[in-house]
Amino acid sequence: MTDFLKLQQTLLDWYGSSRRDLPWRSAPGDHADPYHVWLSEIMLQQTTVATVGPYFRAFLDRWPRIHGLAAAPLDDVLHAWQGLGYYARARNLHRCAGVVVRDHGGEFPADEAALLKLPGIGPYTAGAIAAIAFGLPTTAVDGNVERVMARLHGLETPLPQAKPEITRLARLAAPTERAGDYLQAVMDLGATTCTPRNPSCGRCPWAESCTAFAAGNAESLPRKSPKPERPTRRGVAFWALAGNGDILLRRRPEKGLLGGMMEIPSSDWRETPWDLDAAISGAPFKAGWTPLAGMVRHTFTHFHLELTVVTAQTQDRSVDGVWCSEKSLGDHALPTVMKKIIRHALG
Ligand code: SF4
Repeated sequence: MTDFLKLQQTLLDWYGSSRRDLPWRSAPGDHADPYHVWLSEIMLQQTTVATVGPYFRAFLDRWPRIHGLAAAPLDDVLHAWQGLGYYARARNLHRCAGVVVRDHGGEFPADEAALLKLPGIGPYTAGAIAAIAFGLPTTAVDGNVERVMARLHGLETPLPQAKPEITRLARLAAPTERAGDYLQAVMDLGATTCTPRNPSCGRCPWAESCTAFAAGNAESLPRKSPKPERPTRRGVAFWALAGNGDILLRRRPEKGLLGGMMEIPSSDWRETPWDLDAAISGAPFKAGWTPLAGMVRHTFTHFHLELTVVTAQTQDRSVDGVWCSEKSLGDHALPTVMKKIIRHALG
């Protein structure tokens, strides 16, 4: 039978000497600032620790307290988020800050169920904040925790089917004291020692109890079900110019992919290839649209995108959108795919 107390103690000892020094962390034994934990956890979704560090510091320099972030215009937050991707996180961050200030007096609730009700906070983030900021005896399961648990217990069920079992085991193993340190220790073990390739079992504090180490199959766990192929969607982007060379931008609808971000206007993105004339019939204004050579390619989590870019000029500045000089394009929160279109059109 697994001796969870022994596992907890060896890992907490290891954490004391081998933990990663991260800007949002407190010293072992202390609770971290909930605002810092929340901000870092939202940024870390889909993004690496190395990338997040400078963004985290920049956000705190600019908005040291959640009240400032809540009061900031959404565009400022989106702009500061540029480069982190997955902009729905930034919109939810802003909304969440507003709700925490309005409904909770600017303090995150020390309750996992109440945290789960906040915008942009799912089970993982709620568990992480509850454990790390408030020391509540709970856990959160990210990719690192999944890998460590699957190997420690020698789980052969592939992901994602193994998730409920992994969550159950992670919860069973979580201590009632120092739950935050323990959770961060498992995350660190996965990030630095129990790595996806070449895990360093020789210097792992859990080697003695690890099923995969004993079986010599650590690197093959966790098993993964084959991913479905990403489909390819196609669209036509409109590089629309005013007489003085200004470029037409438009804001995307609040809901959906890249919601609320500025964009180069385009047709729908769909799997059926576009007939160019049909796409151009939905252009921002009537003109002789000419295709540019080449294509812009971008990959989102769930699909590949191929865009043909067409260009035209108009003297009518009343068309729907925002005219922007080439020099001030950088003032707008433009997602990576839009920057690719701009580089393509200008290049
Ligand atoms: Fe991972 Fe190896 Fe440690 Fe097992 S012994 S938890 S496989 S690093």
